[in-house]
Amino acid sequence: MKRLVLKFGGTSVGTIEKIKKVANIIKKKFNEGNEIIVIVSAMTGATDLLKEKSNLISNNFDNKELDVLLSSGEQVSCSLLSGAIIDLGLKARSWLGWQIPIITNDNYTSSQIMKIKIDEVSNFISNGGIAVIAGFQGISTESRITTLGRGGSDLSAVAVAKFFQTDSCEIYTDVEGVLTTDPSINEKAKKIDKISYEEMLEMASLGAKVMQPNAVQASMIDNIPIHVRSTFSEKAGTKIISDSEIDYNKVVTGVAYSKNNAKVSIVGVVDKPGVAADIFEPIGKNNINIDMVIQNTSLDGKKANITFTIKREDLKKTLGLIEKNKQKLNYNKLIHDDKLAKVSIIGAGMQANSGVTHKMFRSLADEKINILAISTSEIKISVLIRENLTQRAVKTLHKTFKLN
Ligand code: ADP
Ligand code: ASP
Ligand code: MG
Repeated sequence: MKRLVLKFGGTSVGTIEKIKKVANIIKKKFNEGNEIIVIVSAMTGATDLLKEKSNLISNNFDNKELDVLLSSGEQVSCSLLSGAIIDLGLKARSWLGWQIPIITNDNYTSSQIMKIKIDEVSNFISNGGIAVIAGFQGISTESRITTLGRGGSDLSAVAVAKFFQTDSCEIYTDVEGVLTTDPSINEKAKKIDKISYEEMLEMASLGAKVMQPNAVQASMIDNIPIHVRSTFSEKAGTKIISDSEIDYNKVVTGVAYSKNNAKVSIVGVVDKPGVAADIFEPIGKNNINIDMVIQNTSLDGKKANITFTIKREDLKKTLGLIEKNKQKLNYNKLIHDDKLAKVSIIGAGMQANSGVTHKMFRSLADEKINILAISTSEIKISVLIRENLTQRAVKTLHKTFKLN
């Protein structure tokens, strides 16, 4: 007998019809003789609607209350799914994060799971029950509801696989698996059969929405293999596994993008030690993530321009923090642009192949796409471009690196 975690994303439980379909998948797996723990996300769109409501109250809505609000979407879907399984004649029960409990740290809106108490759920599944656990939520050490960051039900699934020592962790979604790029902007996207944790972590962090980056990181740390697959087809999906089990026959594994990027340039700061620290310290303290950073110095070496990118939603706050600091930073001009996107190629095969960088830049140039900033790591190259050129850039890179 095997113990399985089956996670169904919001796109898999978006309607009552889909919930019934999911209940049938679970029944089939159960009848094959497996112990089943289900993790379920809120019905697609539900969490966004709740977030919009909080924005109507305030753009600065209290984080702890936001977690109580946003986690409610999963309460609805997990009870509906559990009810649908019971209706098929099986024994099932829903669990909210606090009832198990799934204990997290106090980092409201993007908490980390510290521990899961397994006794009650283990007992239930050992006695022929199907456990349906609400994804995305937990309880802090001060007994308040927490959430695991957007897309966090993936992390719930990985953590449950770890603490319950399950034999597998299956992530069911609306696409065939992890594809070479987002199929919603490039119909030529192809399923990847196997991908390493490292590559998947880059893909997810660089915008491939199919897995939450924190979930990939957690699976990498504990070496938990993941199978990403479709709720709507029986085909095998993508295995996310250790790098040692993969032969790389391609230089680039996938193309990812993220829209809603903004760029800030501080022109004419004095080029001396401590300036960058003075700029970035207040921004970091306000939990704003800095992405790419470029510095160039004037010919006489006295002044520098510092440019960096952030998420568009953080722009207003960031500009405010810099302006507040104007006297100390003593810059000439502050410029920004908020209609930018980051497009990236990812592939462990890059490490052994030279010439990838110029091939990428040439292919963008041939499409008349101007590169505004660049960043690289061993297995990825990212460029910042105008947002309206995203699809064109993704398509041309996908073709250039023979992923079509
Ligand atoms: P779920 O509701 O199952 O959590 P998500 O919407 O979070 O589903 O993730 C699935 C979506 O991710 C797909 O519908 C697809 O549009 C998008 N996506 C972006 N990049 C990729 C990729 N490289 N491979 C597969 N899907 C991707
Ligand atoms: N419902 C949450 C969200 O929309 C968590 C998830 O779907 O994984 O972000
Ligand atoms: Mg998701």
